[in-house]
Amino acid sequence: MFTALPDCSLDRRRFLTTLLAGSAALAVGGLTGIRPARAASGPFTLPPLPYADNALSPAISAQTIGFHYGKHHQGYVNKLNELVAGTPLADQSLEAVIKTTADKADQIAVFNNAAQIWNHTFYWNSLRPQGGGKPTGALIQAIEKSFGSFDAFKAEFAKAAASQFGSGWAWLVKDGDGVAIRKTGNADTPAAHGQKPLLTIDVWEHAYYLDYQNRRVDYIAAVLDQLINWDFAARNLAA
Ligand code: MN
Repeated sequence: MFTALPDCSLDRRRFLTTLLAGSAALAVGGLTGIRPARAASGPFTLPPLPYADNALSPAISAQTIGFHYGKHHQGYVNKLNELVAGTPLADQSLEAVIKTTADKADQIAVFNNAAQIWNHTFYWNSLRPQGGGKPTGALIQAIEKSFGSFDAFKAEFAKAAASQFGSGWAWLVKDGDGVAIRKTGNADTPAAHGQKPLLTIDVWEHAYYLDYQNRRVDYIAAVLDQLINWDFAARNLAA
């Protein structure tokens, strides 16, 4: 039930990483001066950001992107490469690693890092400059079917994101002919439980603390009003 990540098949990832590593590093380091963590060698690579590091400002600053993408996301990639080195998991796709290690107590570190790589790539694509607004077409129909109205859905989604205790994620997932809201803690991801994610909001403190400190509610409102990428969710629903 993994929703396809844009530009993230294993071969395409390798190709794009080779091609774009320089420009992605420039985008992240260029405006903020924050250099990405050094990439470890291994089969898994950090996908390029789908926009410049200052493209989501002021709702999410270039400084937050610099740390979140350049340090946290890259850090999960580096750690996963360390953990799978010399094991059969090194030859699997990211999605296969997540499925293989889900709910296995002795593989929790591998699962956490693999799922965090996937979740963050999905999050970057769930946002866009000049996002927000309302979805259209089949997606708004599914939302209205499940929640009555878009405003009712938006309030429920914001409440779910605000009330996830500690670190985690709020998700819109496909649910039969409609859609549903899910929360996951830490690295957990709906696709590991047979659900099809349509979009997500990262509510780990590292996603908002530099810009909003303890005001998670303000971060969620800014994301929903200014950044959420309904086209991405609509494409995932249709796929
Ligand atoms: Mn994060």
